[in-house]
Amino acid sequence: MLREHNLKVTPQRLGILSILEDTGHISIEELFTFIRKDFSSISIATLYKNINFMLEVNILKEVKIPNSKSKYEISKDEHSHMVCRKCQKLEDITLCLDGVIEHASEKSGYSFDENALVLSGVCPQCQLA
Ligand SMILES: [Zn+2]
Ligand SMILES: [Zn+2]
Repeated sequence: MLREHNLKVTPQRLGILSILEDTGHISIEELFTFIRKDFSSISIATLYKNINFMLEVNILKEVKIPNSKSKYEISKDEHSHMVCRKCQKLEDITLCLDGVIEHASEKSGYSFDENALVLSGVCPQCQLA
């Protein structure tokens, strides 16, 4: 993936990607904790630099969660997110938003090119608890 984007393949970048592959979505702080296990000398500044770099070339995506810290994921097909208010779990969900976007455009005259939808509520497990 890094090579496809003409990015230098560094062990740290590979480390970051493999953590993201395992976790799905992760905050910088969580990522920092994980990456330090393999690269004990990495600084948070270096981690930010690597993340920003991979965001710029679209290998990674930032998931902005209302009232919470952003999480990062490996770019894939467009999808929306669900976040559980109780356990803070973040999950993917694929929804067809075509009609919604169209409707919003008609109503507002905006031309939309980004639809980062995050639905928040209580997940099935927490509803049982
Ligand atoms: Zn939950
Ligand atoms: Zn996602």
